[in-house]
This record gives sequence, C-alpha cells and structure tokens, in this order.
Amino acid sequence: VFSARGIHKSYGSTEILKGVDLELRRGEHVAIVGPSGSGKSTFIRCLNLLERPDQGSIALLGEPVFDAEHPGRGMKQRDLRKRVGMVFQSFNLFTTHTALQNVSLAQRRALGRSRVEADERSRDLLTRVGLGGHLGSLPSQLSGGQQQRVAIARALALDPQIMLFDEPTSAIDPEMRNEVLSVMRDLAEKGMTMVVVTHELQFAERAADRMLFLADGEVLESGSPREVLHSPKHSRVEQFVRSLE
Ligand code: ATP
Ligand code: MG
Repeated sequence: VFSARGIHKSYGSTEILKGVDLELRRGEHVAIVGPSGSGKSTFIRCLNLLERPDQGSIALLGEPVFDAEHPGRGMKQRDLRKRVGMVFQSFNLFTTHTALQNVSLAQRRALGRSRVEADERSRDLLTRVGLGGHLGSLPSQLSGGQQQRVAIARALALDPQIMLFDEPTSAIDPEMRNEVLSVMRDLAEKGMTMVVVTHELQFAERAADRMLFLADGEVLESGSPREVLHSPKHSRVEQFVRSLE
C-alpha cells in the first residue's frame, strides 16, 4: 500500500540518506533499527513529508505522494497528514488542553468534524488506549506513558491508513513503557499498517514482520527480525545488538 523508492536527503553537504527503499504491504509491521545518527528519524520524516527528500519517490495506494522528478505530481501535505499518522518521541501535545481536547482538536481542524462528533470519537479512542478515566486531565497531570497514549489516540482519530512511530517509548520511564507498547501491539494485531523506529528490540522482534537495519543512511540489512538480530550478515548489527543489552 505504501512505497518509498530511492530516498535521498542531504543537509548542507552532508548526505544523510543515500537511497533508502521501503515497500509496505497492507497490514504489515516494519521495524527500523540502527545506531544513533544513522538517519532513522530523517527517513520516517521523509515518509510523511515533514522533510522533503532530495531524490526519490513515494506512493500511497498507487497515488503519487512525492516525486522528486515531477514536483507537481505529489499530494498536498495536509491531505497526506490525514492518511499517515505520526507519533513522535516527544509527545507534542497542547499543554493547555485536556486529553479529550487534544484528540478532538485535530479532528475538527483536519477533518472538519463537529465538536460533538469529535468528542465522541475521542472518548472512544481514549478509552481504547486505557485513558477513559483521564479525559479531562492536562498533559502535566499525566505520566509520560499516558501522554504518549493520548498522542496515539490523536493520530488514530484521523483514521489513518498507516501509522509511523519514531522511538515512541524512549522519552518514557522504563516502568511506563509497557503500557504504550501494549497499545501498539494491540494496534498491530488489529491489522494497522505500521512503521516503527525503535530501540525496543524485544518488542520489535515480537510485533514486526520485517526489520530494516539502517546505518549511515543506507539499509544494511533487511529481513525477519529474527534473521536481522540473530544471524546478521554484518558485524555492525551484532555490535549494535550487544550495545543495547
Ligand atoms: P537517533 O537514534 O539518535 O534518533 P537517527 O537515526 O534518528 O538518530 P537522524 O535524526 O535522522 O538520526 O539524523 C541523522 C543525521 O542527520 C545526524 O547526523 C543529524 O545530526 C543530522 N540532521 C538531522 N536533522 C538535521 C537538520 N534539520 N539539519 C542538519 N542536520 C540534521
Ligand atoms: Mg531519531
């Protein structure tokens, strides 16, 4: 359903992405792992055009999203945002808005839903992520894990076709990570198409169908998580896995 081909991105004279490809089938869960600075965030941000690739093309359900060679052919970022949900390491919630308002606002702005309709959907989603009792809480009254679940509900509220996660648990206390991972596991089991950048190798091994190992802006390995993590072709991967243990 989603394909990115030959994605290149430079900042100044430094080439960060050197031609990264990703082909996602419907309902597939892909984990992206790799050392710090390898370009994981840059790549995932290119997928929803938070960054503009310098070269390459992206398509969603056969529709062109981006094509460096035909700049006029792409999708408007606003339209893409509804179809591709994104969850960041930092939760990016509005600090002066309650959990319910955070989830509702996005729907009213992006989809033009009425307040009643948006609030109803927000209540359902917040309940689904285990926050039915915290609808009126401000982000400052919630733990990191709870805030991240609000951010997930907010992304889901736009009914995206794909969800992108960039290290969703790395800013959260270890004890609170599981509640976020279990929401993500649930989402995966329900058939959501997902790309997850993560250092949680155990989670990735269980939840992902496929794993990409990114190093220096290139896919060094790709395969089942078990292949990539336990019988890698490159010693770089082994080093990385050991460094996280
Ligand atoms: P981490 O695991 O630490 O999150 P990452 O794999 O996500 O790392 P990126 O954030 O994609 O890595 O960064 C890749 C490289 O690009 C880094 O060297 C970073 O300094 C550089 N970089 C990222 N964003 C910018 C920017 N806006 N301007 C200049 N350089 C940038
Ligand atoms: Mg990153």
